[in-house]
Amino acid sequence: MSTSGNTRVAVVTGSNKGIGYAIVRGLCKQFQGDVFLTARNKDLGLKAVEDLKKEGCNAKFHQLDITKTDTINKLKSFLQETYGGLDVLVNNAGIAYKQASTAPFSEQAEVTVQTNFNGTLAVCEALFPLLRPNARVVNVSSMASQYALKKCKLDLQKRLVDIPRLSMEDLKTLMKDFVDAAKKGKHGDLGWPDSAYGASKIGVTVMTLIQQRDLLKDTRKDIVVNACCPGYVDTDMTSHKGHKTIDQGADTPLYLALLPPNTTSPKGNYVSDRKIGPWEAAKS
Ligand code: NDP
Repeated sequence: MSTSGNTRVAVVTGSNKGIGYAIVRGLCKQFQGDVFLTARNKDLGLKAVEDLKKEGCNAKFHQLDITKTDTINKLKSFLQETYGGLDVLVNNAGIAYKQASTAPFSEQAEVTVQTNFNGTLAVCEALFPLLRPNARVVNVSSMASQYALKKCKLDLQKRLVDIPRLSMEDLKTLMKDFVDAAKKGKHGDLGWPDSAYGASKIGVTVMTLIQQRDLLKDTRKDIVVNACCPGYVDTDMTSHKGHKTIDQGADTPLYLALLPPNTTSPKGNYVSDRKIGPWEAAKS
Protein backbone atom coordinates (compact mmCIF):
# COMPACT_ATOMS: atom_id res chain seq x y z
CA MET A 1 0.00 0.00 0.00
CA SER A 2 1.37 3.40 -0.83
CA THR A 3 -0.04 6.86 -0.25
CA SER A 4 1.42 10.29 -0.55
CA GLY A 5 2.75 11.77 2.66
CA ASN A 6 -0.14 14.24 2.47
CA THR A 7 -2.91 11.78 3.39
CA ARG A 8 -4.05 12.34 6.94
CA VAL A 9 -4.33 9.28 9.14
CA ALA A 10 -6.09 8.31 12.38
CA VAL A 11 -5.48 5.26 14.60
CA VAL A 12 -7.82 3.89 17.27
CA THR A 13 -6.53 1.20 19.64
CA GLY A 14 -8.73 -1.69 20.79
CA SER A 15 -11.41 -0.93 18.24
CA ASN A 16 -12.75 -4.32 17.17
CA LYS A 17 -15.70 -3.79 19.54
CA GLY A 18 -17.25 -1.49 22.10
CA ILE A 19 -16.50 2.21 22.32
CA GLY A 20 -13.41 1.93 20.09
CA TYR A 21 -15.52 0.46 17.29
CA ALA A 22 -17.94 3.39 17.54
CA ILE A 23 -15.02 5.84 17.55
CA VAL A 24 -13.79 4.31 14.28
CA ARG A 25 -17.30 4.54 12.85
CA GLY A 26 -17.50 8.22 13.81
CA LEU A 27 -14.06 9.00 12.39
CA CYS A 28 -14.95 7.26 9.12
CA LYS A 29 -17.86 9.70 8.83
CA GLN A 30 -16.14 12.86 10.05
CA PHE A 31 -12.35 12.64 9.65
CA GLN A 32 -10.76 13.73 6.37
CA GLY A 33 -8.28 10.93 5.89
CA ASP A 34 -7.62 7.22 6.42
CA VAL A 35 -8.91 5.61 9.63
CA PHE A 36 -7.27 2.55 11.15
CA LEU A 37 -9.26 0.12 13.23
CA THR A 38 -6.69 -1.84 15.26
CA ALA A 39 -7.10 -4.99 17.32
CA ARG A 40 -4.88 -7.48 19.07
CA ASN A 41 -6.80 -10.32 17.40
CA LYS A 42 -6.52 -10.06 13.62
CA ASP A 43 -9.68 -12.07 12.88
CA LEU A 44 -11.82 -9.97 15.21
CA GLY A 45 -10.34 -6.82 13.70
CA LEU A 46 -11.01 -7.86 10.11
CA LYS A 47 -14.54 -8.93 11.01
CA ALA A 48 -15.18 -5.49 12.52
CA VAL A 49 -13.85 -3.80 9.38
CA GLU A 50 -16.23 -5.95 7.31
CA ASP A 51 -19.17 -5.02 9.55
CA LEU A 52 -18.38 -1.33 9.15
CA LYS A 53 -18.14 -1.74 5.40
CA LYS A 54 -21.75 -2.96 5.34
CA GLU A 55 -22.72 0.43 6.81
CA GLY A 56 -20.69 2.26 4.18
CA CYS A 57 -17.78 3.02 6.52
CA ASN A 58 -14.39 2.22 5.02
CA ALA A 59 -11.91 1.67 7.81
CA LYS A 60 -8.51 0.07 7.28
CA PHE A 61 -7.03 -2.54 9.58
CA HIS A 62 -3.71 -2.95 11.36
CA GLN A 63 -2.94 -5.44 14.10
CA LEU A 64 -1.89 -3.96 17.46
CA ASP A 65 -1.57 -5.40 20.94
CA ILE A 66 -0.67 -2.50 23.18
CA THR A 67 1.20 -4.81 25.57
CA LYS A 68 3.42 -6.24 22.80
CA THR A 69 6.35 -4.06 21.78
CA ASP A 70 6.90 -5.85 18.47
CA THR A 71 3.34 -5.08 17.31
CA ILE A 72 3.67 -1.44 18.37
CA ASN A 73 6.91 -1.14 16.42
CA LYS A 74 5.37 -2.75 13.34
CA LEU A 75 2.53 -0.25 13.39
CA LYS A 76 5.00 2.59 13.85
CA SER A 77 7.10 1.51 10.85
CA PHE A 78 3.98 1.04 8.76
CA LEU A 79 2.69 4.53 9.56
CA GLN A 80 6.10 6.08 8.99
CA GLU A 81 6.58 4.38 5.62
CA THR A 82 3.02 4.77 4.35
CA TYR A 83 1.97 8.15 5.71
CA GLY A 84 5.13 9.77 7.03
CA GLY A 85 3.27 10.78 10.18
CA LEU A 86 0.14 10.51 12.31
CA ASP A 87 -2.71 12.99 12.77
CA VAL A 88 -5.12 11.39 15.28
CA LEU A 89 -4.36 8.80 17.94
CA VAL A 90 -7.15 7.50 20.16
CA ASN A 91 -5.82 5.30 22.96
CA ASN A 92 -9.00 3.42 23.72
CA ALA A 93 -7.81 -0.16 24.42
CA GLY A 94 -8.31 -1.15 28.03
CA ILE A 95 -9.32 -3.92 30.37
CA ALA A 96 -11.19 -4.24 33.64
CA TYR A 97 -11.64 -7.29 35.82
CA LYS A 98 -15.28 -7.96 36.64
CA GLN A 99 -16.38 -7.06 40.14
CA ALA A 100 -17.16 -10.72 40.72
CA SER A 101 -13.66 -11.79 39.65
CA THR A 102 -11.94 -14.08 42.11
CA ALA A 103 -8.48 -13.25 40.74
CA PRO A 104 -6.26 -12.04 43.57
CA PHE A 105 -5.80 -8.28 43.87
CA SER A 106 -2.07 -8.70 43.22
CA GLU A 107 -2.82 -10.18 39.80
CA GLN A 108 -5.53 -7.64 39.02
CA ALA A 109 -3.15 -4.78 39.85
CA GLU A 110 -0.31 -6.14 37.72
CA VAL A 111 -2.37 -7.08 34.66
CA THR A 112 -4.59 -4.00 34.70
CA VAL A 113 -1.71 -1.53 35.08
CA GLN A 114 0.29 -3.45 32.47
CA THR A 115 -2.45 -2.92 29.87
CA ASN A 116 -4.14 0.34 30.77
CA PHE A 117 -1.11 2.32 31.90
CA ASN A 118 2.08 0.69 30.59
CA GLY A 119 0.49 -0.38 27.29
CA THR A 120 -1.03 3.02 26.59
CA LEU A 121 2.23 4.76 27.49
CA ALA A 122 4.24 2.40 25.28
CA VAL A 123 2.00 3.23 22.31
CA CYS A 124 2.43 6.95 23.01
CA GLU A 125 6.19 6.70 23.38
CA ALA A 126 6.43 4.91 20.03
CA LEU A 127 3.95 7.00 18.06
CA PHE A 128 4.37 10.53 19.46
CA PRO A 129 7.48 11.13 17.32
CA LEU A 130 5.21 10.63 14.28
CA LEU A 131 2.61 13.19 15.36
CA ARG A 132 2.32 16.04 12.89
CA PRO A 133 1.50 19.66 13.78
CA ASN A 134 -2.25 19.96 14.62
CA ALA A 135 -2.38 16.29 15.70
CA ARG A 136 -4.96 15.28 18.29
CA VAL A 137 -4.44 12.57 20.90
CA VAL A 138 -7.24 11.18 23.07
CA ASN A 139 -6.47 8.92 26.01
CA VAL A 140 -9.63 7.12 27.09
CA SER A 141 -9.43 7.16 30.87
CA SER A 142 -12.41 6.93 33.20
CA MET A 143 -14.36 8.64 35.93
CA ALA A 144 -12.86 5.81 37.98
CA SER A 145 -9.63 7.83 37.93
CA GLN A 146 -11.35 10.71 39.70
CA TYR A 147 -13.00 8.44 42.27
CA ALA A 148 -9.73 6.61 42.93
CA LEU A 149 -7.81 9.88 43.27
CA LYS A 150 -10.20 10.99 46.02
CA LYS A 151 -9.56 7.70 47.82
CA CYS A 152 -5.77 8.05 47.76
CA LYS A 153 -4.10 9.32 50.91
CA LEU A 154 -3.77 13.09 50.82
CA ASP A 155 0.02 13.14 50.29
CA LEU A 156 -0.33 10.88 47.26
CA GLN A 157 -3.26 12.93 45.93
CA LYS A 158 -1.11 16.05 46.14
CA ARG A 159 1.71 14.39 44.17
CA LEU A 160 -0.71 13.14 41.51
CA VAL A 161 -2.15 16.59 40.82
CA ASP A 162 1.15 18.48 40.97
CA ILE A 163 1.69 18.23 37.22
CA PRO A 164 4.34 21.00 36.99
CA ARG A 165 6.62 19.00 39.27
CA LEU A 166 5.79 15.41 38.27
CA SER A 167 7.93 13.85 35.54
CA MET A 168 6.84 10.87 33.44
CA GLU A 169 9.59 8.89 35.17
CA ASP A 170 8.09 9.84 38.55
CA LEU A 171 4.69 8.64 37.36
CA LYS A 172 6.12 5.34 36.06
CA THR A 173 7.77 4.81 39.43
CA LEU A 174 4.53 5.58 41.29
CA MET A 175 2.64 3.04 39.17
CA LYS A 176 5.35 0.41 39.54
CA ASP A 177 5.45 0.96 43.29
CA PHE A 178 1.65 0.49 43.39
CA VAL A 179 1.94 -2.87 41.59
CA ASP A 180 4.91 -4.04 43.66
CA ALA A 181 3.12 -3.10 46.89
CA ALA A 182 -0.14 -4.70 45.71
CA LYS A 183 1.74 -7.97 45.24
CA LYS A 184 2.53 -7.84 48.96
CA GLY A 185 -0.89 -6.53 49.96
CA LYS A 186 0.82 -3.29 51.05
CA HIS A 187 -0.49 -0.76 48.50
CA GLY A 188 -2.60 0.87 51.22
CA ASP A 189 0.62 1.76 53.06
CA LEU A 190 1.67 3.81 50.02
CA GLY A 191 -1.68 5.60 50.03
CA TRP A 192 -3.41 3.72 47.19
CA PRO A 193 -7.03 2.53 47.37
CA ASP A 194 -8.22 -1.03 46.63
CA SER A 195 -8.98 -0.41 42.97
CA ALA A 196 -6.63 -1.80 40.35
CA TYR A 197 -8.71 -0.29 37.54
CA GLY A 198 -8.96 3.06 39.33
CA ALA A 199 -5.20 3.18 39.92
CA SER A 200 -4.47 2.27 36.29
CA LYS A 201 -6.78 5.04 35.06
CA ILE A 202 -5.20 7.55 37.47
CA GLY A 203 -2.06 6.64 35.56
CA VAL A 204 -3.78 7.34 32.23
CA THR A 205 -5.17 10.71 33.31
CA VAL A 206 -1.92 11.93 34.87
CA MET A 207 0.08 10.63 31.89
CA THR A 208 -2.08 12.81 29.63
CA LEU A 209 -1.54 15.98 31.65
CA ILE A 210 2.24 15.40 31.65
CA GLN A 211 2.24 14.70 27.90
CA GLN A 212 0.50 17.99 27.09
CA ARG A 213 2.80 19.92 29.39
CA ASP A 214 5.83 18.46 27.60
CA LEU A 215 4.36 18.94 24.12
CA LEU A 216 3.93 22.66 24.77
CA LYS A 217 7.73 22.85 24.51
CA ASP A 218 7.77 20.86 21.24
CA THR A 219 8.67 22.53 17.96
CA ARG A 220 5.62 20.91 16.33
CA LYS A 221 2.77 23.36 16.83
CA ASP A 222 -0.78 22.78 17.99
CA ILE A 223 -0.61 19.17 19.20
CA VAL A 224 -3.47 18.66 21.64
CA VAL A 225 -3.70 15.77 24.11
CA ASN A 226 -6.71 15.17 26.34
CA ALA A 227 -7.95 12.40 28.61
CA CYS A 228 -11.63 11.58 28.79
CA CYS A 229 -14.34 9.47 30.31
CA PRO A 230 -16.82 8.06 27.79
CA GLY A 231 -19.52 7.71 30.46
CA TYR A 232 -21.10 4.46 31.62
CA VAL A 233 -21.49 2.52 28.36
CA ASP A 234 -23.26 -0.67 27.34
CA THR A 235 -20.24 -2.84 26.37
CA ASP A 236 -18.70 -6.18 27.27
CA MET A 237 -16.58 -4.36 29.85
CA THR A 238 -19.65 -3.28 31.83
CA SER A 239 -21.45 -6.59 31.20
CA HIS A 240 -23.86 -4.44 29.19
CA LYS A 241 -25.10 -2.57 32.26
CA GLY A 242 -24.05 0.89 31.07
CA HIS A 243 -26.86 3.24 30.05
CA LYS A 244 -25.08 4.86 27.09
CA THR A 245 -24.89 3.26 23.64
CA ILE A 246 -21.42 2.83 22.16
CA ASP A 247 -22.07 5.79 19.86
CA GLN A 248 -23.00 7.96 22.83
CA GLY A 249 -19.85 6.74 24.58
CA ALA A 250 -17.82 7.66 21.50
CA ASP A 251 -19.16 11.22 21.47
CA THR A 252 -16.59 12.83 23.78
CA PRO A 253 -13.59 10.91 22.38
CA LEU A 254 -14.68 11.92 18.85
CA TYR A 255 -15.17 15.54 19.88
CA LEU A 256 -11.62 15.56 21.26
CA ALA A 257 -10.15 13.73 18.26
CA LEU A 258 -11.69 16.29 15.91
CA LEU A 259 -10.91 19.51 17.80
CA PRO A 260 -10.28 22.24 15.21
CA PRO A 261 -6.87 23.80 14.51
CA ASN A 262 -5.45 26.09 17.20
CA THR A 263 -7.69 24.80 19.95
CA THR A 264 -6.65 26.24 23.30
CA SER A 265 -9.29 24.48 25.41
CA PRO A 266 -9.74 21.65 26.16
CA LYS A 267 -6.00 21.06 25.96
CA GLY A 268 -4.24 18.88 28.50
CA ASN A 269 -7.50 18.28 30.36
CA TYR A 270 -9.69 15.51 31.68
CA VAL A 271 -12.98 15.77 29.78
CA SER A 272 -16.35 14.17 30.35
CA ASP A 273 -19.55 14.83 28.38
CA ARG A 274 -17.50 17.38 26.38
CA LYS A 275 -16.82 19.38 29.55
CA ILE A 276 -13.54 19.81 31.40
CA GLY A 277 -13.65 17.99 34.71
CA PRO A 278 -11.63 18.69 37.84
CA TRP A 279 -8.31 17.00 38.56
CA GLU A 280 -7.51 18.18 42.05
CA ALA A 281 -6.64 16.95 45.51
CA ALA A 282 -9.02 17.21 48.44
CA LYS A 283 -8.58 20.42 50.43
CA SER A 284 -7.40 18.68 53.59
P1 NDP B 1 -14.62 -3.46 25.71
O1 NDP B 1 -14.18 -4.50 26.67
O2 NDP B 1 -15.92 -3.57 25.02
O3 NDP B 1 -13.49 -3.25 24.59
C1 NDP B 1 -12.15 -3.11 24.95
C2 NDP B 1 -11.31 -3.14 23.70
O4 NDP B 1 -9.92 -3.06 24.09
C3 NDP B 1 -11.45 -4.48 22.94
O5 NDP B 1 -11.35 -4.23 21.57
C4 NDP B 1 -10.25 -5.27 23.43
O6 NDP B 1 -9.83 -6.29 22.54
C5 NDP B 1 -9.24 -4.14 23.50
N1 NDP B 1 -8.03 -4.52 24.22
C6 NDP B 1 -7.91 -4.99 25.48
N2 NDP B 1 -6.62 -5.26 25.75
C7 NDP B 1 -5.92 -4.93 24.63
C8 NDP B 1 -4.56 -4.98 24.26
N3 NDP B 1 -3.62 -5.46 25.10
N4 NDP B 1 -4.19 -4.56 23.04
C9 NDP B 1 -5.11 -4.09 22.17
N5 NDP B 1 -6.42 -4.05 22.43
C10 NDP B 1 -6.81 -4.47 23.65
O7 NDP B 1 -14.52 -2.09 26.55
P2 NDP B 1 -15.16 -0.65 26.32
O8 NDP B 1 -15.43 -0.41 24.90
O9 NDP B 1 -16.23 -0.47 27.32
O10 NDP B 1 -13.93 0.27 26.81
C11 NDP B 1 -13.16 1.07 25.94
C12 NDP B 1 -12.35 2.02 26.81
O11 NDP B 1 -13.24 2.87 27.56
C13 NDP B 1 -11.48 1.33 27.85
O12 NDP B 1 -10.24 2.02 27.96
C14 NDP B 1 -12.28 1.47 29.13
O13 NDP B 1 -11.47 1.41 30.28
C15 NDP B 1 -12.90 2.83 28.93
N6 NDP B 1 -14.11 3.09 29.73
C16 NDP B 1 -15.24 2.35 29.51
C17 NDP B 1 -16.38 2.63 30.25
C18 NDP B 1 -17.67 1.90 30.02
O14 NDP B 1 -18.66 2.22 30.71
N7 NDP B 1 -17.73 0.95 29.10
C19 NDP B 1 -16.38 3.67 31.30
C20 NDP B 1 -15.14 4.36 31.44
C21 NDP B 1 -14.05 4.08 30.67
P3 NDP B 1 -10.37 -7.82 22.68
O15 NDP B 1 -11.70 -7.87 21.98
O16 NDP B 1 -9.30 -8.60 21.99
O17 NDP B 1 -10.48 -8.13 24.14
